[in-house]
Amino acid sequence: MTNLSDLPLRDSLKGRQPYGAPQLHVPVALNVNENTHPIPEEVKADIVARVAQAVSEINRYPDREFIKLREALAHYLGHGLAAEQIWAANGSNEVIQQIFQAFGGPGRKALGFEPTYSMYSIIAQGTDTQYISASRNARFELTAEHAAEQVKQHQPNIVLLCSPNNPTGTPLSLDVIEAVYASTDGIVVVDEAYAEFAADGAKSAITLLEGRPRLLVSRTMSKAFAFAGARVGYLASDAAVVDALRLVRLPYHLSAFTQAAAEAALDHSKVMLAAVDEIRQQRDRLVVELAQMGLDPYRSDSNFVLFGGLDDPADVWQNLLDQGVLVRNVGIEGTLRVTAGTEAETSAFLLALQQVIRN
Ligand SMILES: *Cc1c(COP(=O)(O)O)cnc(C)c1O
Repeated sequence: MTNLSDLPLRDSLKGRQPYGAPQLHVPVALNVNENTHPIPEEVKADIVARVAQAVSEINRYPDREFIKLREALAHYLGHGLAAEQIWAANGSNEVIQQIFQAFGGPGRKALGFEPTYSMYSIIAQGTDTQYISASRNARFELTAEHAAEQVKQHQPNIVLLCSPNNPTGTPLSLDVIEAVYASTDGIVVVDEAYAEFAADGAKSAITLLEGRPRLLVSRTMSKAFAFAGARVGYLASDAAVVDALRLVRLPYHLSAFTQAAAEAALDHSKVMLAAVDEIRQQRDRLVVELAQMGLDPYRSDSNFVLFGGLDDPADVWQNLLDQGVLVRNVGIEGTLRVTAGTEAETSAFLLALQQVIRN
């Protein structure tokens, strides 16, 4: 076997690290913001039946335009969206990569507000798009003025707005999106991976799509829908954007199994989302109890909480793992990030953390 450094790798990839959240088998895994509630039995049976049906036609390529799935996603999102305005891929990561393939690339720039979702800069590297790290305020919030000013200064081809932001949980108000859109001729992506966990009355960027053909709102079934293993992410936008993404997608990228499983899950969207309220309660509980422990949790509209006030996060991370609790060290000084799990998992995490802090 040869070494990576001996291969004729593209210069821009030399010395880079792949995405690498640890995948460890532990009793309490709260590190990648999955929905830790298993999907309801009735839905499971329906998914299996639909996938079984798909097997009988698996000698043929699937519907390249996945019309039925796009109709189901349009129906789920509401707001009068049509199937032509919906696109999907194997996770919203793939949707974002397709956006970069179509609108980024060599000689082009993408801008994100750090700290934010780590895949943005990794996808930028993979597509040879220059990545610009713009900034947030001290509590990781964004104001319309500050965000628009940075976009104006750098004139990126793609702006990434993560709403709520991962890894900080920070909500994003619509006036920031409106101001950023008005300050650029480029593509504006609002990544709403955690939209279903937002506070009651929070408005989706989908309400801004009308009259904004360069605005793209991406969503995923990985988090609220408890469907991370199925790999289904999607996007709502002007139909012309969907035409652009069709230029770069691989033909038949969504397998017949994926389409069948996702259609079945969307038929039961209400049941599939039944755990969301309970997860939001555990999230709010985390914020309250972490503060009571003298730590510094950040405001969160998602299914996880970033908390500061740790002298040695790496040491706390290892101590928690030794007690069977896996959380995430995202590399923000003095902090760790924890996913809101079931009530029992959340209790296990808080108890383990108490042990660490007392010692
Ligand atoms: C988890 C996550 C995604 C989605 O990933 P999938 O590829 O759909 O599983 C996208 N954006 C953010 C900010 C995320 O945290």
